[in-house]
Parts: sequence; C-alpha cells; structure tokens
Amino acid sequence: IERIGVLTSGGDAPGMNAALRAVVRKGIYHGIKVYGISRGYEGLIHGEIQELSLGSVADIVLRGGTMLKTARCPEMKTEEGQQKALDQLHKHQIDALVVIGGDGSFRGAQTLARGIQIVGIPGTIDNDISGTDLTIGFDTAVNTVIDAVGKIRDTATSHERTFVVEVMGRDCGNIALQAGIACGAESILVPEIPFDYDEICDKLKRGHQRGKNHSIIIVSEGAGSAYKIGEELRTRSGFETRITILGHLQRGGNPSALDAVIAAAMGGKAVEIILAGETNKMTAYVNQEVISRPLDAAYGERRPFNRNLYELANQLSI
Ligand code: ADP
Repeated sequence: IERIGVLTSGGDAPGMNAALRAVVRKGIYHGIKVYGISRGYEGLIHGEIQELSLGSVADIVLRGGTMLKTARCPEMKTEEGQQKALDQLHKHQIDALVVIGGDGSFRGAQTLARGIQIVGIPGTIDNDISGTDLTIGFDTAVNTVIDAVGKIRDTATSHERTFVVEVMGRDCGNIALQAGIACGAESILVPEIPFDYDEICDKLKRGHQRGKNHSIIIVSEGAGSAYKIGEELRTRSGFETRITILGHLQRGGNPSALDAVIAAAMGGKAVEIILAGETNKMTAYVNQEVISRPLDAAYGERRPFNRNLYELANQLSI
C-alpha cells in the first residue's frame, strides 16, 4: 500500500474532521501518502484529488463540518459514474479508499470494491447505521438539541406555553429519545413507536391541573411534521402551541469529547484495516471499543430502538 484516498460524503457531521485528521496522520506515520478527495463522490468523479500533508489537517480536530466538503452525487449511482470514479482512483494510483459517511455513502463505496480496497467510517448525526453502537456526530447533535431545548424551556416557562420541537434523525428516533430523556421532555414522539394524540393531550391537561405552566414535546422528524402535530394538539387540548424546528443547527458545532475520540479511533482503525490488506470493512464502536467489521454489517438488522429508555421517559413525565 502506497496511497490512500479519503473522502466525506452524504450529510456532514461533527467529528468528520477529527476522523479525517486521524486517517491522514496515521497514514503518513506509516509512510503512506494520503489523498484528500473534495466534495464526496462528485469530486472523485471530477478528479478533485490532492495530497494531504501533516500540516494540512492542523487545527481541524475540534472543528465542525468537513474540511473536504461533502456532496450528494446522483451520478455515482450509475455504472458510468462508478467507472469514472474508479478510473480517477487508478489514475492517481490510489490503492485504498476510506469513505466517511452514512449508509448511502457506504453503498457507493461497495461499488468500488471491485477495483480498490475500501473501508467505511460511519459518520452521521442520525445514529442510524447498523453494526455500530454509535456514529460520528450523534453525541454532539444530542448535546446541541439539549442545549437548544434548555433555551426554549426558558421561554416556555416564561410564557406558560407548550412547545413542540422537531429534531433530526430521518427514520430513526434516537436523537429525539436521548435528548428527550436528558432534558426531561414531557413527551417524545418517534417513528419507531406509534403515538396517541389523546394520551398526549391528557398528559398536558394533567400537568396543567397540577400547576405545571409549560411543556416540551420533542418530535423526531420521522414521526411527523411538528407543524401538523402542534396544530392537532392545539385543536384537541385547547392549549397554545409553539413550534420550533431545530433544523441544520443540529449538524454543526464542535464535536463533543466522545465524538472527537471515537472519530480519531475510527480514523486510525481504518488505516490499520487497510495496512492489514483487508477490504469491504467498516469501523464500528461496539462495547466501548472501535473494531473492524464487514461492511455488510451496516445493512444488517438495525440495533433495536431502546424501548426501555422510551418507557422510562414516559414514566418520568407522567
Ligand atoms: P448518507 O451517506 O449520509 O446515507 P446519501 O444516502 O445521500 O447519504 O448518500 C451519499 C451519496 O452516496 C449519494 O449522493 C451517492 O453519491 C452515493 N450513493 C448512495 N447510494 C448509492 C448506491 N446505491 N450506489 C452508489 N452510490 C450510492
């Protein structure tokens, strides 16, 4: 192995830079040249490939976003696009490719495995990739939501209102669940578990009778639109509802300690996997350790939604 390529793809996530830095520095440490590919598969297909030095990744370890930029690239889903990508890698004599991204990005990587060694590093705030307990960015996003909800609660308390806060997660309710339990949300709505408007309204009324003057309802984007849910709750309960969609602020910011550490460990592990001559692998965080697994683990059965924690959240917010 003489040359490794690395790219970030799909949605950005805090900690991607820490992973990138680890790939670059660990690679150089082992005498390998590391090439950064800009803008995901889009940049790969168009040959946006540059050698990265030790200094090129200085001062990025705790910075959010991705220095390499990221993109979505429909062309990569075509045979021609994949061939162009492989041609570029071969032209630059790159022997192995590290892809930092979500499961879509991993599928793209798999199409290149016929011509090059590949390793995936799970990077997405949604924590929706099978085979790993955590994805890079999730912990930071949860902390960002907790911080934002804390601020919203101040206003909710002052105005005695019910706030419906929509958080990210695609079809996965993990961000909503973790943030909801951490900040004591009155209700948490997730795509994994059906919810009942009447139950939520009863809870709001019970709280009101007890003298509670505000409520926070966290809605995972996959559970439905906060606007629709807020309107329905207002109609049924008679309480004023205010809607906040946290949106992209959840994807930004400096990575938390946990994300930065996992990202670095995964970046290092990816280089070890390549040095061992392995391919079609992903790095995974399992039982507090970063390990190597077959990339197919990313498409296995998803870690079950933590119903116990969800139940507990309901019990704590009666
Ligand atoms: P994520 O990696 O966060 O899941 P996407 O699903 O948008 O994000 O995927 C990112 C990119 O990966 C896509 O824009 C496309 O270039 C590539 N990709 C996704 N699915 C496939 C696929 N089935 N085959 C080839 N490339 C894919």
